[in-house]
Amino acid sequence: MATDYFGVLGLARDASDSDIKRAYRRLARDLHPDVNPDPEAKERFQEVTRAYEALTDPEKRRIVDLGGDPFDTGGGGGNGFGNAGFGGLGDIMDAFFGGATTRGPRGRTRAGRDALIPIELELDETVFGTVKELTVDTAVLCDVCAGAGTAPGTHVTTCTTCSGRGEVQSVQRSFLGQVMTSRPCPTCSGTGQVIPEPCVKCAGDGRVRSRRTISVKVPAGVEDGMRIRLTGQGEVGPGGGPAGDLYVEIHERPHDVFTRDGEDLHCRVTLPMTSAALGTTLNLKTLDGEQEIDIQPGTQSGSVLKMRAQGAPRLRATGRGGLVVHVDVVTPTKLDAEQEKLVRELAALRGEDQPESNREAQGGLFSRVRDAFHGR
Ligand SMILES: [Zn+2]
Ligand SMILES: [Zn+2]
Repeated sequence: MATDYFGVLGLARDASDSDIKRAYRRLARDLHPDVNPDPEAKERFQEVTRAYEALTDPEKRRIVDLGGDPFDTGGGGGNGFGNAGFGGLGDIMDAFFGGATTRGPRGRTRAGRDALIPIELELDETVFGTVKELTVDTAVLCDVCAGAGTAPGTHVTTCTTCSGRGEVQSVQRSFLGQVMTSRPCPTCSGTGQVIPEPCVKCAGDGRVRSRRTISVKVPAGVEDGMRIRLTGQGEVGPGGGPAGDLYVEIHERPHDVFTRDGEDLHCRVTLPMTSAALGTTLNLKTLDGEQEIDIQPGTQSGSVLKMRAQGAPRLRATGRGGLVVHVDVVTPTKLDAEQEKLVRELAALRGEDQPESNREAQGGLFSRVRDAFHGR
């Protein structure tokens, strides 16, 4: 379903270009991460910016007008992590706020990055859910300076190179005349502040690397490639800025017996020809324990038995998928003399001993050959 980008900006579908611009500007002022450290605001800001981009970029707007979604790459499951095509943000902000040159010193405190950790799970863990202890090695808040970056009892001071403006200007002569250019102050990296006595533990960064163990609850029914998001468990930002999110990516190990197709599990069983003909009961070790499967007399090779509610739980709905059992019937080989005699007797009793001499049987034989080519 295509996102209602007008709705994201709080606009009706007939909004004009200037309405769009005005609505975005108003929202961006409240939600921009430089202004609003709330992680939810950051997410909302990205949403709003995306909507703005979708409605103002001519190519993307064309897709929106056709009822499509210019950001939908067809993969689904996108949750904002490493989202491609979201590159225009800086340009848009510069257009509205006049670019970095007039934004003054940038904050020393910035938001932390997201982190991604893959975990390997067995099939029964993805199907029934589990709790995993994960060792995470990320930047955490420095406990000595609590993110300030200063040694105990000391404070940040105003940068003398730029007088706290965060940028330095230089005048250059060119054929256009005098051109004034600004660039971030090299002494304070544009923050306008310096730390005369940095914290010894974090060297002024406000954060240190640390290894910690967190437990991750894996919900029942997750699939290979899915990511679980742990809000605020990512890297703490420079200067003790709000932590990013931690994404745990599920990797499902192949199982010896079962293969998974979404919510369904599949397996193969082999049956001797005699059991297939006479019918039998099989004991199958499923993920839920031992189960009896009734094989009807006359079961054909390639038949499929479906066992309800023995598969994986549905993530966003109730109930479980099925267990699909594929039956292979095995033709006996290396018959001894007595067995061969019995099979021949059976063949004679069934009139199958000389099928080529019987027109009807011949038709049957051909149709069976045809089935083998066109079946499954
Ligand atoms: Zn510190
Ligand atoms: Zn400076």
